[in-house]
Amino acid sequence: ARPNTPAPEDLTTWDRDHHLHPWAAVDHWRETEYERIEQAEGIHVWNAEGRRLIDGPGGMWCVQIGYGNREIAEAIAEQAVRMPYASPWSGTNAPAAELAHRIAEMAPGDLNTVHFTTGGSTAVDTALRTAQFLNNQLGRPEKKIILAREKGYHGSTYLAASVTGKERFRTRFDRDARVHFLPDVNPYRRPEGMSVEDWCDAKVADLENAIAEIGPERIGAFIAEPILCSGGVIVPPEGYHRRTLEICRRHDILYISDEVVTGFGRLGHWFASEEVFGIKPDIITCAKGLTSGYQPLGACILSDEIMDRLAAAGDSSVFYNGYTYSGHPVACAAALKNIEIMERDRILEHVREVSPHFHARLAELADHPIVGDVRGMGLLGCVEARLGAGTLEEDSRFGEELDAVCEEMGLILRPIFNMAVFSPPLIISKAQIDEMFDILARGLDRVA
Ligand code: PLP
Repeated sequence: ARPNTPAPEDLTTWDRDHHLHPWAAVDHWRETEYERIEQAEGIHVWNAEGRRLIDGPGGMWCVQIGYGNREIAEAIAEQAVRMPYASPWSGTNAPAAELAHRIAEMAPGDLNTVHFTTGGSTAVDTALRTAQFLNNQLGRPEKKIILAREKGYHGSTYLAASVTGKERFRTRFDRDARVHFLPDVNPYRRPEGMSVEDWCDAKVADLENAIAEIGPERIGAFIAEPILCSGGVIVPPEGYHRRTLEICRRHDILYISDEVVTGFGRLGHWFASEEVFGIKPDIITCAKGLTSGYQPLGACILSDEIMDRLAAAGDSSVFYNGYTYSGHPVACAAALKNIEIMERDRILEHVREVSPHFHARLAELADHPIVGDVRGMGLLGCVEARLGAGTLEEDSRFGEELDAVCEEMGLILRPIFNMAVFSPPLIISKAQIDEMFDILARGLDRVA
């Protein structure tokens, strides 16, 4: 330990008194004591009492290659010693150039231009600002409304939070008003007796109706997560993405696919848009798994078509978007090593191989009387509790209760009202998947 290492009690006090945590509840932020994670290895974390827990949420859907990877730590150290920082103002750096090239190779179709950001929110913010910028450049400043979706989560910058369709009623933060939300796409929420195909038609019609009502000349972009992750791992019905993309194309509305969670292997591919859902969006945003969480980094990937249209506008306008840490060499070096490890260790293939087992085990939980729905794809899963008549999702404590009992048995979950979601590190083995679902099954019995 370094000299003067703070005592654990002091850390607890200092954290409580001086650390404003993300998403803290205002009325009791001086009372909340957060659990302090001290150490991690593979798919496990150890809490302050030294108890080993399976990290069900994989950090925050990001620790793809697992914790404690020395190779990535060494790549970070090596880059930090050689050149810890490079100004993006007028220059570039080798890791950023190489990573941009690698991402362009992985991304679908003509998505060949990469703008580096500090995380997912800033990647989304960049995508939305690019849509505004493009329409200003094209002389159509009225084409600014963003179509987004109920239950979508896109981040915490002003614009990314504005297009987020979650928990808007529980906060008094301001938002950009030029956003229109399409209703919930969750097939589990479809009216009784309606087929999933009809539900898909209805959800596609929601988009068409919104465009007809607002006017396509006023709509700049549609933003969608391939799977709405923080909204409760909502997998839209088959064909939804393809059909909504076609509609956007018809009206010259940019399609932004927010792959902050679904990118970098979560569904067994570098990106889910094309390989899983068969679409080539105009813009893809990514972050999280790009570095497996070892460094903060995001990227906004733009199509050649957007870049060509911007160039053709023909004035000397500047792409006035960037950060002190755009293309940070240490973060980019971490991403390059992460990609190298994922390729060498065949992580995408591993995800595709173990996913059927993961979903077979998940499906078994559907029979539990307390469970209303189970769903997911790749290494993403959700258990949703049946709600009693008149109970609101937001009032349910099921997720928290299930998480608490599972933590006692060695598994962390991410509670969301009447749901618990999980997205374990992608290196999880079949035996570890079994261990996870065994705990979940016992947990359900205990909260039932
Ligand atoms: N987009 C999606 C789909 C996300 O799930 C998240 C974070 O959970 C974000 C954007 C925001 O990313 P960040 O927290 O890195 O800013």
